[in-house]
Amino acid sequence: TYVIAEPCVDIKDKACLDVCPVDCIYEGDRTLYIHPDECIDCHACEPVCPVEAIFPEAELPEKWSHYAEVNREFFADL
Ligand code: SF4
Repeated sequence: TYVIAEPCVDIKDKACLDVCPVDCIYEGDRTLYIHPDECIDCHACEPVCPVEAIFPEAELPEKWSHYAEVNREFFADL
């Protein structure tokens, strides 16, 4: 799955929403989230993000590694 990290917080550009073929990117109060079970790893979202907030989970920068869990928890609470 792909994960949206800190650069999206309070930005929410939403360019990714337009390119995701399975509509698995959801809007929260301060950031966007990718549904880990719905993402098909197509990579379309990563290059269109103007703030480079999106990473494959395995390639999350160390300082943002907790965003994988933050992302999962958002959907666990729904
Ligand atoms: Fe959507 Fe593809 Fe990005 Fe996954 S990798 S969130 S399927 S655009």
